[in-house]
Amino acid sequence: MDATVGIPPAVTEETEAFWAAAKEGRLVVEGCSSCGAESFPPRGICRSCRARTPVPVEITGRGRVYSLTVNHQRWLPDLPVPYAVVLVEFPGHPGVRVAGRLRGCPPERAAIGMAVDIGFEPGPGGFAIPSFVAVSPADGAAA
Ligand SMILES: [Zn+2]
Repeated sequence: MDATVGIPPAVTEETEAFWAAAKEGRLVVEGCSSCGAESFPPRGICRSCRARTPVPVEITGRGRVYSLTVNHQRWLPDLPVPYAVVLVEFPGHPGVRVAGRLRGCPPERAAIGMAVDIGFEPGPGGFAIPSFVAVSPADGAAA
């Protein structure tokens, strides 16, 4: 059995496109076909103009840590603690912030403003769970 992390997702009509893309390793958020505002998590309704005509928008490239928490509580038996959970924003995608576990760096080194790559981890029920991989800083610190 594969190791899994995270909480089994609740798949709804609104989040189906997100989970389908995640399985392919793509991070997809909702874009509004009416006003262009982007939203995450998917809700099926624009947070800006309330139009109900979302279109999938794929986010590529690096994100930046907007905020973070370090979890010391063992919520999940397969997930060793502590680990950092980061909220990540992406250049060119205002309004979109995606939370996920930070990998590739010890939790005490997690910092606001650090660059991260989008990654996915195998999750419960065959779902791919979004997570983020620390980009090695220029000073050569170990990843
Ligand atoms: Zn809109």
